[in-house]
Amino acid sequence: MERMKTYLLDFHLEHDEDEPDIVISVGGDGTLLYAFHHYQHRLDKTAFVGVHTGHLGFYADWTPDEIEKLVIAIAKTPYQVVEYPLLEVIIRYTTGEKEARSLALNECTVKSVEGSLVMDVEIKGQQFETFRGDGLCISTPSGSTAYNKSLGGAILHPSLHAIQIAEMASINNRVFRTIGSPLVLPGHHTALLKPVNYADFQITIDHLTLLHQNVKSIQCRVANEKIRFARFRAFPFWQRVRDSFVSD
Ligand code: NAP
Ligand code: MN
Repeated sequence: MERMKTYLLDFHLEHDEDEPDIVISVGGDGTLLYAFHHYQHRLDKTAFVGVHTGHLGFYADWTPDEIEKLVIAIAKTPYQVVEYPLLEVIIRYTTGEKEARSLALNECTVKSVEGSLVMDVEIKGQQFETFRGDGLCISTPSGSTAYNKSLGGAILHPSLHAIQIAEMASINNRVFRTIGSPLVLPGHHTALLKPVNYADFQITIDHLTLLHQNVKSIQCRVANEKIRFARFRAFPFWQRVRDSFVSD
C-alpha cells in the first residue's frame, strides 16, 4: 500500500480517496466487492483494478509485483475500459416502508429465516413456479463463478447482458415441482419473487447479509449501471476460469 502511494507520487498522480478516477483494490475478490460497494455512487466516473495478494482472483487479476507496471500504465497510456453487467434488486414491503434498491456485483441470495423458503417466482409478469427449498441465488455473469458455480449454475461470459437464477436444494416430489435447472434471463426480462406465507427473509447482496421483514416482493433484473474495469493487458475471461478452476 505504501509502496503504491510512493509510486503514485513519483508519477505525479494524486491520491484522492473521495473522488477517485481509478480504484486499486489490493487483497482478493472479496476486497474488490467491498471497494465496489464503497464507490457504487460514482460508478460512471470510476474504473476498478484488482490486485491479488493471495490466489488469483476473478476481479483481482494483477499480482503485487506488477504494481509498478500498473502505475506506469495508469500514468502514461490512455487505458482501455471493460464494462461488466450488474444485478439490480428492488425489495418492496407490505408496510408501506420505502422500497430498497441495491446493486450486486456477484449475486443476491434469498433464504428464509426459519424453515424452507417458499416463493412464487414470476418471470416477465407471468407465474413460473412455486419454489420450495433452501433458497435462490440470482447472479451476474461475473458472479457466475462464485456462489452460483457451487450451486451447479453455468459460467456466463461477462459480455452477456444477463442474470442467472440458480436453486439451492429445491424440494421436488409429487407435490412440489420446480424447474430444477438454472435459468438465464436476458436484459429485458424481470424476475419477481413473491413470498407465499412468511414474509421475513435473509437476503444477501454480495458479502452483505440483512434480515428483511414484511417483504412483499423481490425484483431482480440486469441493472442499467455497469462496473468499469481498467484494462492494461489482455487476460481473457476463459483463461481466468481455466487458471482458477482447471489448472495453471
Ligand atoms: P469469502 O467467503 O471469502 O468468499 C468465498 C470465495 O469466493 C473466496 O474464495 C472469494 O475469493 C471467492 N469469490 C468472490 N467473488 C468471486 C467471483 N466473482 N468469482 C469467483 N470467486 C469469487 O467471502 P467474500 O470474499 O466476502 O465473497 C463474498 C462472496 O462469497 C459472495 O458474493 C458469494 O459469491 C461467495 N459465497 C460463496 C458460497 C459458496 O460457494 N458456497 C457461499 C457463500 C458466499 P477471494 O478469496 O479472492 O476473496
Ligand atoms: Mn474473501
